[in-house]
Amino acid sequence: MSLPDSIRPATAAAQALGFTDPSTAAIVPPIHPATTYERGADNKLLSGRLYSRADNPNYEQPEALLTHLEAGAATAVFSSGMSAATAVFLALRPGDHVLVPQVIYWAFRSWLVGWATEWGLRVEAVDMTDPARVEASVRRGETRLIWLETPANPTLVVSDIEAMAQIAHRAGALLAVDSTFATPVHTQPILLGADLVMHSATKYLNGHSDVIAGSVTTREEDDFWGRIRTVRSQAGTVLGPFEAWLLLRGMRTLFVRVAAQSRAAMRIAEHFERHSKVEAVLYPGLPSFPGHRVAARQMHGGFGGMLSIRVAGGAPGALSAIGKLRVWKRATSLGGVESLVEHRASVEGPQSPTPPDLVRLSVGLEDVDDLVRDLEQAIA
Ligand SMILES: *Cc1c(COP(=O)(O)O)cnc(C)c1O
Repeated sequence: MSLPDSIRPATAAAQALGFTDPSTAAIVPPIHPATTYERGADNKLLSGRLYSRADNPNYEQPEALLTHLEAGAATAVFSSGMSAATAVFLALRPGDHVLVPQVIYWAFRSWLVGWATEWGLRVEAVDMTDPARVEASVRRGETRLIWLETPANPTLVVSDIEAMAQIAHRAGALLAVDSTFATPVHTQPILLGADLVMHSATKYLNGHSDVIAGSVTTREEDDFWGRIRTVRSQAGTVLGPFEAWLLLRGMRTLFVRVAAQSRAAMRIAEHFERHSKVEAVLYPGLPSFPGHRVAARQMHGGFGGMLSIRVAGGAPGALSAIGKLRVWKRATSLGGVESLVEHRASVEGPQSPTPPDLVRLSVGLEDVDDLVRDLEQAIA
């Protein structure tokens, strides 16, 4: 790595932290499919790497870049966002008390109330937009972890990372933040006091809807971090080398993609905020949005490429509108270059707390006028 220390994050990302291939001088690092690494005559590992269930240069490169972008001490990439998030909870011990948000990525919520609870974690859901509620729910000496997701999927509610870090630390707990929606372009939770930052790298970090991946970055390489690494190396929830390579390639354009997506999302939010067929636009960038003030303090350079629109006419109104879209694609997931739309309540089922008239939008990189026009004709 020969880049100067003073480089800005966008430079670090564009050059993938300067990783090249020293053996050929190729400016793109190679893919390492090997499962195992050789030992020398003295039986010592020649590169320090033992076996690819734990170590591979293709994991180390996106890890180093994420550690840099998140201002952390170390990162582990995982085979999915879910394996990254669950690794943090599997590193806890049975009986540990954890606070999680009421509004949280749906599949993770099911895992927390199902598996995590069955396996002995005491999982309590609280309203993370209200620091006083969280303060009242935290149990000194028993609460080991507070988990935040901000902005949260799919209602975009915002939690105050700095306030939550203070509450967690006063109680002797760790603060972990699912920062998938914010990306390191807009928020660096560790600089606001968080201990761990998790991403579904499937989304903005890779950015092209062609890799399932996750990451956890830590502020400190402490014992708890060692346990998270052990969960990964023992369970083998690693990426394939090609997927890890694709992730690094995707991250090279992270800053331009997210900046353009955030600008377009703001434009769409403003356009539909006072539309007669729209009940509400949920976007942290709108001054009318309840979490705007906290978002403006902890997000820099934009408010992200995700927004939700509550369409007039309830679930039938929302479903009929998205049925008419011709440019936006109806599909789950987010953070890719193509704009996606989803009626979350249908996906989440009858237990879903998501409003039935809510349509979640992931803004891609198309011309924003095409996106606005398509939504206009669909909603009208
Ligand atoms: C998609 C997503 C996850 C899960 O990530 P996968 O890569 O799909 O396993 C977790 N949190 C948020 C906010 C997400 O959007």
